[in-house]
Amino acid sequence: MPTGAVHDRSDIAELAALLRAGELVAFPTETVYGLGADATNSDAVLKIYEAKGRPRFNPLIVHVADLAMAERLVEFSPMARKLARFWPGPLTLVLPRRPDAGISDIVTAGLDTVGIRIPDHPLARELIRAADRPLAAPSANRSGKLSPTTADQVVKGFQGLVPVLDGGASQSGVESTILAVEGETVTQLRAGALPRAEIAAAIGRPIAQAAHDARIAAPGMLASHYAPSATLRLDAEYPEPGETWLGFGPGRAGANLSPKGDLREAARNLFSMLHELDESATRIAVAPIPHTGLGEAINDRLRRAAAPRTPAVH
Ligand code: AMP
Ligand code: MG
Repeated sequence: MPTGAVHDRSDIAELAALLRAGELVAFPTETVYGLGADATNSDAVLKIYEAKGRPRFNPLIVHVADLAMAERLVEFSPMARKLARFWPGPLTLVLPRRPDAGISDIVTAGLDTVGIRIPDHPLARELIRAADRPLAAPSANRSGKLSPTTADQVVKGFQGLVPVLDGGASQSGVESTILAVEGETVTQLRAGALPRAEIAAAIGRPIAQAAHDARIAAPGMLASHYAPSATLRLDAEYPEPGETWLGFGPGRAGANLSPKGDLREAARNLFSMLHELDESATRIAVAPIPHTGLGEAINDRLRRAAAPRTPAVH
C-alpha cells in the first residue's frame, strides 16, 4: 500500500494496521478531517505535533467508535450520559479519565480529564473499530492553516506524507462543540457545530460559557491547562538551595527529561515528571531545552507552568 496516497474504504484494514503500529492516518469526520494517532501511544501522538508543526501542547480530542469504547476510557455522570445522546455527533465531552484507560498524557496534556466524542461519519467509526484503539485527532492541517474538509486538502497540506482515508467532503467544516462536565455541572469550553441552545434545550437547563482563560479554574469549572503547584524556574544552569532539579541532556544527577538529550523522549516524560516532582517539590529548576522541533511545545508548556497564575501567557 503506497503511503501518502488517498485511500478508500477497501484499505481500512491496512490503515488500521498503520495506526496500531504507531503511524499517523488522516480520516474524515462530519466536522473536518482529523489527523489520527493511537491515543494510548505517546510516540504516535507526538508525531501529530511534529507533522502539524504545532508549537503548543493542548489536550487533543479522543475519537471512539461507540459508547462501550468511551466507557472504558472515561467516567460518565448521569448528566454526561444524557449529553452522550448527541453521539455520534459534533459534541466533545470533557470527562474524568479512568486511570486504567491507558490514554497518553500527551493527549490530555497532563490533565486528569479526557475530551472525547463519537464522530458522525461511518468511515471514521469503521477505522477506529478496525484499529481497535481510541484515536487522538486534531484537525489534519499544518499549524496556522485552515482546517481541511476534503481528502485532497489533507494530501496537499502534508505534501502527501500522511495517508488519508477519503470519506468525501466534511458536512460541517466547523469543529465540535466542547463541553466540560463535572458531575451535573456543564460548561461550554468551545463553541462549535452543535449549538449551545440546542444542547441546553435537551438537558433542560442553561449552559454557561467558560471564561476566556479557563486555565484559572473557577469553582465548578475545569482548568484547560495543567499547572503544577510548585513554582518553576526555567533555563536554569544548576539548582539553587531548596530547588528540585529537572534536567535535560547528560550531566547533573536527579530527574531528567531525557539524559541523552532527545526531544521526543523529553516530551514523552514531561507531564509525568512534572506531576511526580510536584508531589514533593515546592520549587523546580528546569534545565534549558532547545527550541527546535518538539522543543517549542515543551518550552511553551514549561513557560505556562512557570506562570500559572498570570492569565495572559497565550
Ligand atoms: P482539537 O484541536 O479540535 O482537537 O481541539 C482540542 C481542544 O479541545 C483543546 O484545545 C481544548 O480546548 C479541548 N480539550 C480537549 N480535551 C480537553 C480536556 N481534557 N480538558 C479541557 N479541554 C480539552
Ligand atoms: Mg485545528
